Amino acid sequence: MLKVKKKDKVIVLRGEDKGKKGEVLEVFPDKGRVLVSKINLVSKHTRPTAARPGGIQKKENPLPLASIMLICPKCDRPAKPRFDRLQTGEKVRICRRCGEVII
Ligand SMILES: [Zn+2]
Repeated sequence: MLKVKKKDKVIVLRGEDKGKKGEVLEVFPDKGRVLVSKINLVSKHTRPTAARPGGIQKKENPLPLASIMLICPKCDRPAKPRFDRLQTGEKVRICRRCGEVII
């Protein structure tokens, strides 16, 4: 189980976007990378098509999991979650700061 999943809020710990927050758009577990909204933007040159004119488009680039930290939705602070198992057997993440289950 990874520390983040889709729609999590995360903060960037290093690199050009250090300190910025975004929402997880996609997780790539096999690559150990995540795609975060408006973080690690790269310019892509696109060819004109019938649907849209060509030009330069900004697009997110996946960044390593080590470069981000989960923001707990309950206490709104960066938190390294610990994992626990509910009575139902479901694995959940728990905020080390406030002790709340992070869905
Ligand atoms: Zn918390």
